[in-house]
Amino acid sequence: MIFENEEDLKLIRKSGKLAGEVLEMLTKAVAPGISTLELDQMAEKKIRENGAVPTFKGYRDFPGTICASVNEEVVHGIPSKNRVLKDGDVLSMDLGVTYQRNTEDGKVLDLIADTAVTIAVGDVPERLQQLLDDTQKALYEGIKQSCPGNNLDQVGGAIEDVGNLGSYGIVREYGGHGISYKLHDEPFIFNYRTGSKITLKPGMVIAIEPMFNLGGDGVRTKRDGWTVVTSDYKASAHFEHSIMITDGKPEILTRRPTEVLA
Ligand code: MG
Repeated sequence: MIFENEEDLKLIRKSGKLAGEVLEMLTKAVAPGISTLELDQMAEKKIRENGAVPTFKGYRDFPGTICASVNEEVVHGIPSKNRVLKDGDVLSMDLGVTYQRNTEDGKVLDLIADTAVTIAVGDVPERLQQLLDDTQKALYEGIKQSCPGNNLDQVGGAIEDVGNLGSYGIVREYGGHGISYKLHDEPFIFNYRTGSKITLKPGMVIAIEPMFNLGGDGVRTKRDGWTVVTSDYKASAHFEHSIMITDGKPEILTRRPTEVLA
């Protein structure tokens, strides 16, 4: 869908800005010894203090404010006091922020931003840091293709090219998505070429989120019903921004305050 209402546009930008700020706060707090539940609680507190709602909490009964996925976990890791980070881990944190608007006819509309980053905890091997850097690069390459008139194959293709260059596994089962008044809407955005002819139009808000693995493409869901892990237990990385298609370059709604775009 296309966002046209001025109040919606204002709120979706506000959601994106707060999401970026919260994620940056979390990245600064990550260190050996902290649990993923502590990070989750910090995020929820900051989101609620700002009058917003943690989008993921309660979404299909997900218990957390953030998804915290460590090492071979790809996405949807459940924050836990027992998951204490240690030197050499990589941690993916994914979060959503919602501001709500009441309409004149009594409806509540959700204006949502969704964003993720993967960071090293302490020192990690060079090849693992390269995986993180390249997955972020793939996100930026996908964003660069997100111009009006371009199709989703150009977005997915740009991401796939970065993945292939680094010989990474490219996760097939999960990908980006449109954001409307709900978190996940059409179109699904594949992180590789599928021949999609769906074109981007100004006012569309989409989340782009490449996931690359050090090993193969394959993933499976653990018995907790949420945590997605790589089939070969090799590490995975995930980066995501929510962006708005404009007449020119896309607007990165979830840009973190000190993020340097490449
Ligand atoms: Mg998403």
